[in-house]
Amino acid sequence: MGFILGLTGGIGSGKSAASAWFETQGIHVVDADVVAREVVQVGQVTLDNIRLAFGDWVLLDNGELDRTALRNHIFQFPEARQVLNQITHPAIRASIIQQLQQASSPYVILVSPLLFETNQHEMTDHNLLIDTSEEIQILRASSRDGQTPEQIRQIIAAQMSRQQKIAMADDIVTNDGHIEHLYSQLMPLHELYLLRAEKHH
Ligand code: ADP
Repeated sequence: MGFILGLTGGIGSGKSAASAWFETQGIHVVDADVVAREVVQVGQVTLDNIRLAFGDWVLLDNGELDRTALRNHIFQFPEARQVLNQITHPAIRASIIQQLQQASSPYVILVSPLLFETNQHEMTDHNLLIDTSEEIQILRASSRDGQTPEQIRQIIAAQMSRQQKIAMADDIVTNDGHIEHLYSQLMPLHELYLLRAEKHH
């Protein structure tokens, strides 16, 4: 496989903004959140496995996953999360690997909010963290999602700390200014990754 860049950051840090910029440079981006939704679509074996493990109540009348019911169940029985993860994580990983292999750009990006938390960084060669202060994360994420600052704060609290992510990342971009400032920091990294990708073959 070619050179794989992991791209991560907490909620509202600017991961999506960064991956959109890399896409404008012709770099293929695989989004772990998108894959996580794909593997539980109707007709996927992973959805059957979830139904077998939990019961028919996890499906809506139209056969789709009842996310709200499953979320409430996990809230009530926290150990159910492990059961769910044991079913979904290998499927997500297999699909990510397949999509990374199919990409034909000079290098390929795996963007994931839980790159380090779920050991997806084992699939990557190099990791870039988009980092911002918690205040900016809360401001940007709440104006994007319509969630309250308190809800965003809870999501941040459940994610790996900034310090831990900073310690695990190879490159760090601070996204606390204008969007153009983000792009101007990504450009030299992109040049570097192109060189790394050439040597990687
Ligand atoms: P993530 O994918 O990490 O959750 P996003 O890339 O969606 O974060 O960024 C969160 C919100 O902040 C989005 O609405 C995005 O357009 C906006 N945003 C990102 N970077 C900047 C920036 N440097 N200046 C202003 N707004 C930004």
